[in-house]
Amino acid sequence: MIVMKFGGSSVESAQAIERVAGIVKARADRNPVVVVSAMGKTTNKLLAIANTAIAGKRDEYIRQIHDLRDFHSREARQVTPLAHRAELDRWLDEHFEELTELVKGIAVIGELTPRSIDAISSYGERLSSYIVALAFGYFGLPAVHLDARKVIVTDRRHTQAAPIYPETYSRLDAVVPALAAEKVVVMGGFIGSTEDGVTSTLGRGGSDFTASIVGAGIHAEEIQIWTDVDGMLTADPTILTGGHRVKTISFAEAAELAYFGAKVLHPATVIPAVERNIPVLILNSRRPDVPGTLIVSQAVPCKNAVKSIACKRKITLVNIHSSRMFMAHGFLRRIFEVFDRYETSVDMIATSEVSVSLTIDNTTHLARIAEELNEFSQVSTEPEQAIVCLVGENIRYTPGVAAMVFNALRELNIRMISQGASLLNLSVIVAEKDLRSAVEALHTEFFRELDPEVFE
Ligand code: ADP
Ligand code: ASP
Ligand code: MG
Repeated sequence: MIVMKFGGSSVESAQAIERVAGIVKARADRNPVVVVSAMGKTTNKLLAIANTAIAGKRDEYIRQIHDLRDFHSREARQVTPLAHRAELDRWLDEHFEELTELVKGIAVIGELTPRSIDAISSYGERLSSYIVALAFGYFGLPAVHLDARKVIVTDRRHTQAAPIYPETYSRLDAVVPALAAEKVVVMGGFIGSTEDGVTSTLGRGGSDFTASIVGAGIHAEEIQIWTDVDGMLTADPTILTGGHRVKTISFAEAAELAYFGAKVLHPATVIPAVERNIPVLILNSRRPDVPGTLIVSQAVPCKNAVKSIACKRKITLVNIHSSRMFMAHGFLRRIFEVFDRYETSVDMIATSEVSVSLTIDNTTHLARIAEELNEFSQVSTEPEQAIVCLVGENIRYTPGVAAMVFNALRELNIRMISQGASLLNLSVIVAEKDLRSAVEALHTEFFRELDPEVFE
């Protein structure tokens, strides 16, 4: 068995779904289990509907739901066998009526809870997985739809739920291999349900994570992440074009890149795969012949110090200054307790005699955090910063990496620098407005020559 996950753009239209059917068909002898994201930008659209509802704009949310139904119906009809069209219509009616009721309820209450956000955003994958399963039949690939919520069991942290592994693995093992022996199993990514059956989601971009959980649960021989780029590239293509494909990368490097902003992989994806040592491949659904990126457990020998550069925008720098006895013990504990209370995670940190600087990307509770920190220190914040993160197992063995970074960025103002914690990354903070030039300069510096074994 293999797991094949197709992201939103890979299933964004009837034409895209046809491409997917071709890709899966070519691998049908490996008993594929297919995990799909919501079609195109559906998750964003569902969240927009929820926000329109709480803003009390009834006509607008009714129109938005209508448009979303039209879109799904239009694309799905083109890939549904005639004999199943009535079934499709019934199914769409049922789901869009349910969604409308849910949204109306939210509009009445005027408040969105994490639980209701999950209920609404789950429709994307519920719809896409059903449609893709029908489409496979249309293209001559016998398929069976599986509601992911029956097998992915999570805790109750709605909008960012974590799987409960023993229960999830035992359900996957009980259900999926038997189905996959007969037909291609198609299920939605991203969604699950709590132990008492309430719909939950694994967080934005979570379909990659689903693929990996499923792969581990059924002991798949491989997990394939099909997306809209040729694989892991040496730079985020939304910031810098012309990056090179990384042919092989380690789990540790991929996880670090994902955590520091490489959206191509959800940061939790590697966890289940590492545990069961299942290789993960990133592939392009528009160019299926490109070999993609293979992610494996052992470090990959490479002549370059850096494998790829990730970045995270919208970072806020928080400077905490204490005039008295800064290093008195317990001071850092007090600081982190505040961040912990507001469930705000800290990415980077630097200390001096009288101050601590740290970065956060979630500013929801920043005002309250600053207020509490102000009780025992002076706090200032700097928004619109970015983390640029160089990742590579060789960074720690290569002398002069820091000098190369400073040389490349000599014209820019580096606000913070950090190396060491993970041994395989070196990160700097620059102003967001300097992000592109920083990435470009670093990319030129570190990828002037390429190890042909690792890059293309
Ligand atoms: P999907 O819908 O298939 O899950 P995503 O949009 O979540 O796709 O992830 C793919 C995107 O990740 C790419 O289109 C690209 O813009 C972005 N990305 C960011 N960093 C990288 C990187 N280092 N290599 C490749 N893609 C990256
Ligand atoms: N559809 C979800 C999202 O847009 C999950 C995913 O695509 O991975 O975040
Ligand atoms: Mg994604």
